[in-house]
Amino acid sequence: MSNRVVEGRMVTPEKLAELVEGESVMDAEDIEDADRECPDCGGDVLAVGYMPDVTEFVTAHKCQECGWGETDRE
Ligand SMILES: [Zn+2]
Repeated sequence: MSNRVVEGRMVTPEKLAELVEGESVMDAEDIEDADRECPDCGGDVLAVGYMPDVTEFVTAHKCQECGWGETDRE
């Protein structure tokens, strides 16, 4: 069970990845707590690793409180 509450609603790892990616993803790992604060609101930040397609693995960070999110893409 790695579902977490983000922006007031329960999300699965796949849904959290989709929030940052902007489209559906192939697969996602468990959601983890990132050791950082949101640059916008100071809220807790979650991390999730996912595969948007078969050739790419991306780690996304997403604030639990607001709409801020980013990936580790170059
Ligand atoms: Zn935030």
